[in-house]
Amino acid sequence: MVARNPTVSTTPGSGPQPNTAGRVLEAVARTVAVVGGGVAGTASAYALTGRRTPGVEERGAVGDAEGRSAGNARGAHDPGASDEGGGDHSRPAWSGVTVEVDLFETAAALGGRIATRERDGCRYDYGANYVKAPDARFQRVIDDALGADRVPVDGRIRVHDGDGTVREGRDEQADRWTGYGGLDALPTGLADASGATVHTGTHVESLARREDGWLVTVDGDSHRYDAVIVATEPSSVARLLGGAGWDVPLRERVATAADGVPYRTVPSVALHYPFRIERPYYALVNVDGDHRVGWLAREECKPGHVPDGESLLIVQLSPTRALGRPPTPDAAISAAGDAAAALLDDPRLREPDWTDAVLWTAAQPERGVAPDLFERALRHDLGLAGDWVAGTGRTFAALQTGLDAGRRVRQRLEHDR
Ligand SMILES: Cc1cc2nc3c(=O)[nH]c(=O)nc-3n(C[C@H](O)[C@H](O)[C@H](O)COP(=O)(O)OP(=O)(O)OC[C@H]3O[C@@H](n4cnc5c(N)ncnc54)[C@H](O)[C@@H]3O)c2cc1C
Repeated sequence: MVARNPTVSTTPGSGPQPNTAGRVLEAVARTVAVVGGGVAGTASAYALTGRRTPGVEERGAVGDAEGRSAGNARGAHDPGASDEGGGDHSRPAWSGVTVEVDLFETAAALGGRIATRERDGCRYDYGANYVKAPDARFQRVIDDALGADRVPVDGRIRVHDGDGTVREGRDEQADRWTGYGGLDALPTGLADASGATVHTGTHVESLARREDGWLVTVDGDSHRYDAVIVATEPSSVARLLGGAGWDVPLRERVATAADGVPYRTVPSVALHYPFRIERPYYALVNVDGDHRVGWLAREECKPGHVPDGESLLIVQLSPTRALGRPPTPDAAISAAGDAAAALLDDPRLREPDWTDAVLWTAAQPERGVAPDLFERALRHDLGLAGDWVAGTGRTFAALQTGLDAGRRVRQRLEHDR
């Protein structure tokens, strides 16, 4: 059940504010629906509700009269503070607009392709394996989202060739992070920090454009929002926009472009062993694409993931080199065990004591869509976010698109006041 659309907020800290002439201004509440609870959607919510994010300097509308930031659920850091530049310094500290966000996610939990499972005292990230920050601004967002759960992934990444030869990886390797309880703490932490109302297990059925905003249909009921951010995987974007009640050529352009983004299939296999596999590195990656194992990582290098004296390997296979057609979980498990034994030169690895396998049919995009679509959609109060917008299947790239979409939609709503 979604109940929304107040026009004047009574939230503490966002209510009546004195302006410079001493008159009292009412805060206007704008509403935004974010569709998709992966890292892109949760980052959109984080940027929308007024956290201090990269490129967004002042968020007085969500702060109290003294300018303190509200909604900092974790109360720890101050991501995106002004030293990095890139923000709107001319904006008044209190813009008079609050943004209320409903975040819809089909699945029972947030995360999408950031996914963590638990079994027999182990936790393992079987989608994206970690997050790293390309710069200090991102690091602050990651710190804010993960809070006290943030732990470093210990060890380096080495490279293996097509014939299985292992060599040193890059000299400079950025810090890699996950949550103590798993990488899904990242989208969950972003959503928590945003203060958005989260609706998990809630599939958005359709979208329709109206003169005064967007209609979002959930469980047969339609709800009006001032703006929408679509942060789903592209097949869902194509369905939502392809069938949307929105009579402009852009609708078809975005739907067709999203539908045309090719994705790699990645079988991801967890292999558990009741003994420790000691190696002087965290993971092996195959960069030339000539080996049947694209990625092999030791989850025990992540604090909190694997009990002492045990090992849990995550093996991501190249489907064309390792599996028949169509790939099956059983074939993936068997191929992963064989490949791990050969690559790590340890025959015991053929016989894990338990296993798990997920065939990600749309794991990572091979390219993106034309950048002008993002700008054109914004003119209709429609934000687009996701790794397909970035054109690369990287966690930080998806996160960046979410921050961008949230920030830009928010700016539109503020200027519309
Ligand atoms: C096996 C694997 C390995 C990877 N390895 C790495 C790696 O090493 N490094 C790296 O940086 N990245 C890696 N990635 C990529 C990374 O996980 C993704 O790029 C990133 O998580 C994409 O986030 P997203 O928010 O764009 O999409 P998603 O995570 O797919 O989120 C979209 C969400 O939208 C929801 N949704 C869809 N339709 C609707 C609807 N109608 N209503 C409501 N909700 C809807 C979906 O349920 C989903 O939760 C990997 C991915 C996989 C699968």
